[in-house]
Amino acid sequence: MRTGPWQDVARAVGLLAPDGGTRPTIFAEMSALALATGSVNLGQGFPDEDGPESVKQVAARALLDGVNQYPPGPGVPALRQAVAAHQQRHYGIELDPDTEVLVTTGATEAIAAALLALVGPGEAVVTLEPFYDAYAAVVALTGAELVTVPLVPSAEGFRPDLAALRAAAARTGARVLLLNSPHNPTGSVLRREELAAVASAAVAHDLLVVTDEVYERLTFDGAEHVPVATLPGMRERTLTISSVGKTFSFTGWKIGWVSGPADLVDAVRAVKQFLTYVSGAPFQPAVAHALDLETTDGPDAGFVAGLAASLARRRDLLVEGLEAAGLRTVPGEGTYFVVADASDVVEAHGLADADALCRALPDLCGVVAVPVSAFTVAGSPTREALRHHVRFTFTKSEATLAEAVRRLARLAP
Ligand SMILES: *Cc1c(COP(=O)(O)O)cnc(C)c1O
Repeated sequence: MRTGPWQDVARAVGLLAPDGGTRPTIFAEMSALALATGSVNLGQGFPDEDGPESVKQVAARALLDGVNQYPPGPGVPALRQAVAAHQQRHYGIELDPDTEVLVTTGATEAIAAALLALVGPGEAVVTLEPFYDAYAAVVALTGAELVTVPLVPSAEGFRPDLAALRAAAARTGARVLLLNSPHNPTGSVLRREELAAVASAAVAHDLLVVTDEVYERLTFDGAEHVPVATLPGMRERTLTISSVGKTFSFTGWKIGWVSGPADLVDAVRAVKQFLTYVSGAPFQPAVAHALDLETTDGPDAGFVAGLAASLARRRDLLVEGLEAAGLRTVPGEGTYFVVADASDVVEAHGLADADALCRALPDLCGVVAVPVSAFTVAGSPTREALRHHVRFTFTKSEATLAEAVRRLARLAP
């Protein structure tokens, strides 16, 4: 039965069920499978340990002290100031907290409001494929076309096909480049020369850039996160998005922010105003506190650096286990995730692809992961190229990962 245009969106992201309703996402399906089979869930990326106690206390106190009514539309001043100070401290980006920073309901709302504000039917959004699953859905909601540029696995990690990027940017109707670095699902961190290619394509074809940097602080092995807004000619055409969830292990708080030139931030605010109006009043002072922590000498000052170092160790633990089990990992330098080419295991078990492997994995060894195909467009060359690739999260305790590694060993030939 047809109930509305949502069905076109659902079809675009492969979630339209035969009866006209929606199918659950692969993440929901796999989490349910993990629960039903008692498997270790390395599918969905959320930490099994909360962020700093002092940050929780600020939120709890705000709630008890009556910070419970609508906060200011753009976000509480302390948080906007903390975001501006963070961008200055880490990247040398100067922002006016009153006109160039907007607080949103997670990075998710910032992305949705930015795209709804900036693109429409007849226009195109260019993004790297595979991509965070919300991108395709939001682009479909705007009525714009999604044009993808392959990220190609190599010994140097997943690298963008820059010739394809230039060609995509040159297409008529291309309006926004939607970037994500450090990148989910691949763990890739875009290099300065790759970002320079993005910047020159954006300038040459007068594109806006919306950049999702929620893993900005979670990079490993000395990999440097370079915000694309810091490249020459980019500040005036870039909206930079981040949030508290990943950096501070509070994925359920859903406080995010977008920063950039006042006219673009104003455009996002105009949409955000009528999506959610405002976001989580008592959480906002706590997030301001979290961002400011590293400027103090309190016990949690080193939280983020400690988290990144700990994630790097946990990545190593998982990568070693995956390799021992016959899965060939693609190097990644950030985020919560690592991708592995499971061709050998797929073949050894007579399966069709990574999708089939992920459905069989709970029975084969008691572990759950998600196929990279979930982050691609149906029928795209990238889906075909990555049909044997699987994404695993390592944002779980070392004990949980050690158990997963023991179980994965059952796959070894
Ligand atoms: C988790 C995630 C988000 C969502 O961030 P929220 O702040 O929870 O809305 C956005 N982009 C990427 C790449 C993510 O991994």
